[in-house]
Amino acid sequence: SKRGRLDRFLAGQLNIPRKQARQLLVDGRVWLDDEQVFAADRLIHEFSHIRFDEQWLQRQNPVYWMLNKPAGVVSATQDPEHKTVLDCLPPAALVPGLHIAGRLDKQSTGLVLLSNDSRWTQALTLPSSSKAKRYRVRLANPLDDTYIEAFRDGFFFEFENVITAPAELRILASHEAEVILTEGKYHQIKRMFGRFRNPVLALHRSQIGQIVLDDSLAEGEARELTREEVESVA
Ligand code: URA
Repeated sequence: SKRGRLDRFLAGQLNIPRKQARQLLVDGRVWLDDEQVFAADRLIHEFSHIRFDEQWLQRQNPVYWMLNKPAGVVSATQDPEHKTVLDCLPPAALVPGLHIAGRLDKQSTGLVLLSNDSRWTQALTLPSSSKAKRYRVRLANPLDDTYIEAFRDGFFFEFENVITAPAELRILASHEAEVILTEGKYHQIKRMFGRFRNPVLALHRSQIGQIVLDDSLAEGEARELTREEVESVA
């Protein structure tokens, strides 16, 4: 992996002379992986997280991908048995530190976002940022209007000891609904329909925040996000 001196890295990132970079270190304004560092000759590598005052500096080019996840593929970066979402990406996409921003269950399909930019994925997934996620759900039993109110009012989840945030449910057909969540608890949608004893037969995510699954992507296909899509995550 690419290793280099911290003072050189700072000089390049901040566009300042090396001498000035050393002064920033001496002044205690630089942090490496949450440790304050003072030594100019400290070596860093491509996974190092470097912070100057409140500003994070990125050593590696950030990448951002969307995938149309097929059923049967796990939302993990490694799995001894099953194909993972990383196996769906072209080899060039597999940069160090690539990780998933919001998992889908193994049998669920649709939009999965991946990046090596952990600040960006945090902005997408932190509960406080509450990005809306849109799902299409196919059910074993017919729906009726009582679901709409129940999803809006929320369900008590005993394990987490919380009431789910108001969710929007739209009935699209007798056995088909669109659900918009602003959170993502474990198996949330299946558990919500479970309260009606109505098994989920298929679950497809089409949108996270402003980012919509590109309908030109077949299942198992991926593309890089556009700049607008990346920047839509504040
Ligand atoms: N809710 C679920 O139950 N499964 C998913 O994959 C996503 C939301």
